[in-house]
Amino acid sequence: MKFEREVFLKETEGILASEYACDFSTAGKKELYNAVSKAVMRMVYPDWKATREKERKRCAYFSAEFLMGRAIFNNLLDLGILDEVSSALSSIKEDIDLFEEVEDAALGNGGLGRLAACYLESAATKNLPLDGYGIRYRYGLFRQTFENGYQHEEGDDWLRWGDPWSVKREEDAVVVTFADQKVLAVPYDMPVFGYKNGVVNTLRLWSSEPVRPFDFNAFNEMKGESKAQDNFNATKITDVLYPNDNTMVGKILRLRQQYFLASASLQDILKKLKAAGKPLSALSSFYTFQLNDTHPVIAIPELLRLLEGEGMPFEEAFRIASQCFNFTNHTIMAEALEKWDSLAIADLLPEVYEEIAACQRRLESEGADPAKFYIIRDNTVHMANLAIYVSAKVNGVAEIHTNILKRETFRDWYERSPEKFVNITNGITPRRWLLLNNPALAALIDSKIGDGWHTDLKELKKLKPLIPELLPDFKRIKSENKKKLSEYIKMHDGVEIPPEFIFDVQVKRLHEYKRQLLNALSVLYFYFGIKDGTVKNFPPTAFLFGAKAAPGYFLAKAVIKFINEIAALVNSDEEVSKYMRVVFVANYNVSYAEKIVCAADVSEQISMAGMEASGTGNMKFMLNGTVTLGTLDGANVEICEEAGRANNYIFGATVEEVEAVKRFYCPREIVEQNPALKRALGTLADGTFEDGTGMLSKLYESIVGGHSPDRYLVLYDFADYIRVKEGLLRDYGSDEYFKKCLINLASAGKFSADRSVSDYARLVWKIK
Ligand SMILES: *Cc1c(COP(=O)(O)O)cnc(C)c1O
Repeated sequence: MKFEREVFLKETEGILASEYACDFSTAGKKELYNAVSKAVMRMVYPDWKATREKERKRCAYFSAEFLMGRAIFNNLLDLGILDEVSSALSSIKEDIDLFEEVEDAALGNGGLGRLAACYLESAATKNLPLDGYGIRYRYGLFRQTFENGYQHEEGDDWLRWGDPWSVKREEDAVVVTFADQKVLAVPYDMPVFGYKNGVVNTLRLWSSEPVRPFDFNAFNEMKGESKAQDNFNATKITDVLYPNDNTMVGKILRLRQQYFLASASLQDILKKLKAAGKPLSALSSFYTFQLNDTHPVIAIPELLRLLEGEGMPFEEAFRIASQCFNFTNHTIMAEALEKWDSLAIADLLPEVYEEIAACQRRLESEGADPAKFYIIRDNTVHMANLAIYVSAKVNGVAEIHTNILKRETFRDWYERSPEKFVNITNGITPRRWLLLNNPALAALIDSKIGDGWHTDLKELKKLKPLIPELLPDFKRIKSENKKKLSEYIKMHDGVEIPPEFIFDVQVKRLHEYKRQLLNALSVLYFYFGIKDGTVKNFPPTAFLFGAKAAPGYFLAKAVIKFINEIAALVNSDEEVSKYMRVVFVANYNVSYAEKIVCAADVSEQISMAGMEASGTGNMKFMLNGTVTLGTLDGANVEICEEAGRANNYIFGATVEEVEAVKRFYCPREIVEQNPALKRALGTLADGTFEDGTGMLSKLYESIVGGHSPDRYLVLYDFADYIRVKEGLLRDYGSDEYFKKCLINLASAGKFSADRSVSDYARLVWKIK
């Protein structure tokens, strides 16, 4: 992109004048942010138009979540004008860091939504025609605060700063019909820039609006009550993102959202196909669809309905659907696999339900064993089964996860159609997760091996022979990043973290299977050990946590309270706080992740083996030169394959052991045999901590009480975790240790989302 400072500044000031009636000397931050962004939007329009108009087979990526984070810095980086814009702003005495206050676009919960965002950026960088289709939630994932250690949720008004990176396209609006209402779906298009290549793909986010404008006369005559109600209900569909990660909530509004996304996107695509003069029967020559988890799977019966509505027989429609759809599974947890009550779907979407029933009948007519193969059973629609039955390809997101799908979760389906199942290991974009968040380290790498790695991450392996000479600069950069993070945490969370401490980090959604509780118990173990002298010469360590809990997830919220109580205990202890600090940072999001990932010394990836499908947080840390303290779960397995197990810190039961252990597991016995563990766990129930709501004792019960206690083997893995963690902390600081960090960095090539999307393009989408 050609950038001329004077032209850019003139453009920006023009926008300030026409849209905000101000100029550089009087503009506030918000006005400046919008004007700068819009000036860039003007510059990129020709490329956006050119990319859109190229005729070739496209992939539509359907996802209920896109966790985009903050757009401006990433967009400027991808356009290759971050430094130019920064210095242009300096020339008018403004600091680009001002825009650090701009809200994240948090239209997603966690890994699944962030993956979608990384894939969009990587596809644009690889010049792959990938369009995102999602929902423009008015409120994204809630903003988290703590009150007395308890999580509180506030609405996330992400549009507070405006939305200069979106263009509303009313001419492409379509009507979505439910049994009880019709609503207008209005698209907002966001450009997705490839890295310095002139490619601009599109993320299309749908917003719901009333079909007809508010009827004031009818309202005046008081006939308007129901009309007003209608208008209100229409906007409500896209009001808010459901804050659940890896759990299914059977709310009708959620089903409405899913159908709204599916129907609007497919109508849009069929309209475009027709406008281009192509027959609908040729759909699969022009489009392929990726279903990101089961959330958009209702698109399958919706496509059948739309095609039949155009006069196509069911069998032909089915054939087309089975060529177009592909399905990504993200979890094996039963509580996350979507199932809907048949009546709920039939009531809300009778024609769609008929299509699902037709798929069920088709499946039956093939003579498949109904005990193994069903879409509808016991008045329940199994969305994953529907997706697998119809899709051309089904993929898991890491080798171990895909193998579990084949062996366990979808074994019957796999045996029936083995050719459908493929693995595509997740990836992250190295632009946001190294170039942008860690510019000093990126510059160091550039100075050693050039900049080819920006778009070919495998080139990082050229660093391997250079590791000894990299060490001093690497250590300096890490320590500077830690200083910055420490200052930020002080300001943001009010906790003092000495930057010379080891930064041991666990940031991710709060979930029992991710086992933040295991980490918390280890912190208490060290705390009591330091106090009673059984743990000697403890290397000063700060334990950092960041996580949001779904508002209705009681035990997850209990873990947050527990860790906040531990933090208060440890940090106020005059003696122990010389060796330990604990902080639970509030409102962990993409922007916070960028600051944390470049400053971490230890990456905690400690889920019970078999539970974390892939993880992508693990990859971000690895790419920034951080060793993993983890189980052999998800992509940790492949991280060890790439970087060497000896260069990471692996502990705990393997998937096979988990299976075996669960058969005779008795957590109470483990506690009795380990007094230090008993002491740490006991704090949940012995009055050490304030527990006015009783949630800590409930958490205690979940581990040692009732039937099927400690479902995620926290206690079983505890001793091995302590052993390996303590070993790690004692290794820290040696050249050997920092070499491990750099070997991880140099081995991160496989985990580029560029590789992931190329795999999809070749194995699944068949696009170039
Ligand atoms: C990467 C990322 C995640 C996913 O982290 P995992 O450790 O893979 O669960 C979640 N939230 C945010 C904000 C992220 O950036």
